Amino acid sequence: MEFFDNLLDETHTTVRDMARRFAEEHIRPHAEAWEESGTFPRELYPKAAEAGILSIGVPEQAGGSGGGALHQVMVIEGLMRGTSAGVVAGLGSLGIGLPAVWQTERADLIDRYVRPCLTGERISCLAITEPGTGSDVAGVRTKAVRDGSDWVVSGSKMFITSGVRADFITTLVRTGDDPHGGLSFLLIEADRPGVSVSRALRKTGWWASDTAELSFDAVRVPEGNLLGEEGEGFLTLMRNFQLERLALAAYGVATAQIALDEAMAYTKQRKAFGRSLSRFQITKHKLAEMATAVLTARTLTYQVAHRMDAGDYLIGEVSMAKNVAAKTAIDVCYDAVQLLGGMGYMRESVVERLSRDARLLPIGGGTQEIMREIIAKEMGL
Ligand SMILES: Cc1cc2nc3c(=O)[nH]c(=O)nc-3n(C[C@H](O)[C@H](O)[C@H](O)COP(=O)(O)OP(=O)(O)OC[C@H]3O[C@@H](n4cnc5c(N)ncnc54)[C@H](O)[C@@H]3O)c2cc1C
Repeated sequence: MEFFDNLLDETHTTVRDMARRFAEEHIRPHAEAWEESGTFPRELYPKAAEAGILSIGVPEQAGGSGGGALHQVMVIEGLMRGTSAGVVAGLGSLGIGLPAVWQTERADLIDRYVRPCLTGERISCLAITEPGTGSDVAGVRTKAVRDGSDWVVSGSKMFITSGVRADFITTLVRTGDDPHGGLSFLLIEADRPGVSVSRALRKTGWWASDTAELSFDAVRVPEGNLLGEEGEGFLTLMRNFQLERLALAAYGVATAQIALDEAMAYTKQRKAFGRSLSRFQITKHKLAEMATAVLTARTLTYQVAHRMDAGDYLIGEVSMAKNVAAKTAIDVCYDAVQLLGGMGYMRESVVERLSRDARLLPIGGGTQEIMREIIAKEMGL
C-alpha cells in the first residue's frame, strides 16, 4: 500500500519509476561534474526522449504520449533523483517552451518544432521576463511590428532557461498598446539574423542549466510564426502558468524529500558522544518535523494535480501548492545542512547543492508575493 494509492494509479507509478531509473543511471553519476561545469551534454535530450520521458504531458495529436498534470509531477520527482535541479530544468524547458506551440493545433508548427523537441533533436525555451519587467507581465516591452508579411522584433529577454542553446524561443511580444490585450506569442528561431545571446548568466543554484539574456535586434519573423491569435498572449500565458507553477511545486517536494533522505542516512551513521546522531531526541524531532513538512507539501501538490486532471481550474490552490512546496524545500534543506554539520556546507554533499537550488523556488515562475496576491484575489480580497 502506498500512502497516495487513492491518487496514483499504475500509469503514475510507472512514469515515476521510469524517470527515477533514468535519473539514477544517466544523471546521478554525472551530477557533480555537470554542476561544476555549468552544463550537461546535449546528448542527454535524445537519451531522455528514447526513455519516453520528454513526451509525457504532450497530447498524442501533437506527437506526445499524453498524460496529465500528475504524470508531469511524477516525471519531475523521478528525474530529481539525479540530485541536479539544473539538469531537470534544462532538460525540461520544453515543458514551458512547447505548450503555446502545440496549443495552436497547427500541423506545420507541430511537425517542424514540437516533434523534434520530443525526440530530443531540438531545444525550446520560453521567454517572458525582460531586464525591465518580471512579475508585471503587462510591462513587457519587446516589440513586434508588422512589415509586409513579416513581424519585426526588437527588445530583450532576461533569465531565460535554456536560452543559450535553444533552437527556438517561444517569445511574449508586444503587438499592441493595451497592457494585457496587446501581448502575443511569436516563435522565433535562434538562428535568425538579429537574435543573439547577450549574456550567459551565473547563478546561485541550478548551475547545470543555462540561463540567458537574449537580444532581438530588428529580427524578421514570418507572420506564420504567430502562435494563436494576435492579442491572445496574456491569456495563453496565464493558462500555461498553472502547470509551470505546479511543476515548481514538484521540484520543491522532490528537493525536500531528497534532503530528508540524506539527513536520515547521515545522522544514522555519524557518531558523536558515543552514539549515532539520530539517537539524540533533538535530531529525531527535527527529522520528524521535516518528514511532516514533506508529506504536507506532497499531499497538497498531488491533490491539486489530481483535481487539475479532473478538469478543475485551481488558480488559488496551485499558487498555494507552489508556496508551500517552495518553503518546505528551503526549510528542510536548511535543517538538512545543519544536521550534516560541516559536511552539509561542502560542495561534495548533495544537501549543499539542494539548499542553493531550492532558493529559486519562491522566485521562478511567479514569486511567492505574486502567489499571495493571486490567493488573496481568489479569496475575494
Ligand atoms: C534561474 C531562473 C530561471 C528562470 N527561467 C525563466 C524562463 O525560462 N523564462 C522566463 O520568462 N523567465 C524566467 N525566469 C524569471 C522569473 O520568472 C522571474 O525572475 C520572476 O517572475 C520574478 O520577476 P523579476 O525577477 O523581474 O522580479 P520583480 O518582478 O522585479 O520582483 C522583485 C521583488 O518585488 C516583488 N514584487 C513585485 N511585484 C509585487 C507586488 N505587486 N506586490 C508585492 N511584491 C511585489 C517580487 O515578489 C520580488 O520579491 C527565471 C528566473 C530565474 C532566477
